[in-house]
Amino acid sequence: MAYATYYLDFPLQNNWIQLRNANDNLIRHTFAFTPAASIRHDYDWAAGDASNVWYHASRIHDFYRGAPFNYTGMDYQMRARVGLGADVNAAADGTNIYFGSQNGRPWARSSDVVYHEYTHNTIYRIYGGWIGNPNEPYTEASAMDEGLSDYFACTINNDPILGEDVGVSRNLDNNTFTWTDWQGAHWNGQVIGGAVWDFRELVGSYVADNLAFKALQIVPRARTFSDYLYNMMIADNGTYNGAYRSQLRTVFAAHGITTNEPPLPPSFGVSISGPETLPSGSVGEYTAVVYGGSGNFTYNWYVYEPNGREQYVGSGNPISIYAPYTNSSLTIQIEARVTDNSNNETSSGWLLVLVYGEGGPLSIKELILKEEINPEIPIGFSLFQNYPNPFNSNTVIYFTLPEAGMVSLSVFDPLGREVATLLNEQRPAGIHKVYFDAGTLPSGVYFYRLKSSGKMAIRKMLLVR
Ligand SMILES: [Zn+2]
Repeated sequence: MAYATYYLDFPLQNNWIQLRNANDNLIRHTFAFTPAASIRHDYDWAAGDASNVWYHASRIHDFYRGAPFNYTGMDYQMRARVGLGADVNAAADGTNIYFGSQNGRPWARSSDVVYHEYTHNTIYRIYGGWIGNPNEPYTEASAMDEGLSDYFACTINNDPILGEDVGVSRNLDNNTFTWTDWQGAHWNGQVIGGAVWDFRELVGSYVADNLAFKALQIVPRARTFSDYLYNMMIADNGTYNGAYRSQLRTVFAAHGITTNEPPLPPSFGVSISGPETLPSGSVGEYTAVVYGGSGNFTYNWYVYEPNGREQYVGSGNPISIYAPYTNSSLTIQIEARVTDNSNNETSSGWLLVLVYGEGGPLSIKELILKEEINPEIPIGFSLFQNYPNPFNSNTVIYFTLPEAGMVSLSVFDPLGREVATLLNEQRPAGIHKVYFDAGTLPSGVYFYRLKSSGKMAIRKMLLVR
């Protein structure tokens, strides 16, 4: 068996490679860096195989260095070394890639091997060490390392199947794998790799690669599947203004991966338009109200007429907004300033803006003001005053939850009798809205009570027929 102890060094900014012997002496260089005819790696390090390794290392290096990543952490000489061990395909140690002999069994494609091991080293350098303990294969941390190394190998190859030549093929495409205790890191890696691959199929490789790679760089580093999903949402916040939140939630849930959701990115304006909600052929009177969840707030309201002219409305809360036109769209804008108790400007906190016109809610927007990269969920347990109140037959109740849980929301009459059950179900963390139709209930005072996760709040409302 030709099993030479050569080193293959990648000076990654140049189009040449060095091949060194075991004494570190340069024995040849200037391989062509286009792939050789065979794409199979061969353990005898024939020139064509070394060329393949060089080609694929260059390719993945360019991948991480190029848009959108701009990642320069791989600008060092990553050494590929033959001779790891008899029964091993390949491995990585954070700085080098190693190739074993496979004991004469077939090799995986050299592209799969190089991309996978190279990504191990990339993650190692981002994390400043391994995600988890490499000697503990039955952890999510180890499975993350394998599954994401698979994902990047597969996305560069545009092929969701990896390693088929070594008899342990891993397939990220349309798998429905969920975490399985007794399976090792490579198998369970398909759980998270499959989730990211499903995401790629929904949104395209550019967005998926971008978010998958950025998520690795967010502090605190993810070491579980759910933390990684969380960091992908943070990356989505920062890159795409949270546009892919629901797709992320969906594809990861299909693999049994869920997480608390970070707040959506800052937005200091809300635009509300919709001629269908304006009273036809007449002027309109609208009421806007802001519910503030944390921090101290100041507001300025503006209305934009269809010709674009800006009209300052005021800074009250609630505030009446008079719409002096009969059709077309109305844009209502709020500028919000959030301060802490010392009146210092802060970007943390959140607002809930409701605009009511004749006939019920016109539009509802959440304004969440929050630093992008901060894992804390700023929303607390709150039950808000129903709006409108007093009400004639219909009203809306808002509440917020800091964590997911069973929620019960009920309405009681003054004698304590439950007259309506509005909710009795599981709800995620975040802002929630429930409509209440009083039906045939008589006029009078009612109470509504929210319970979740051991907390309770009660408020009063007035029904006027
Ligand atoms: Zn691996």
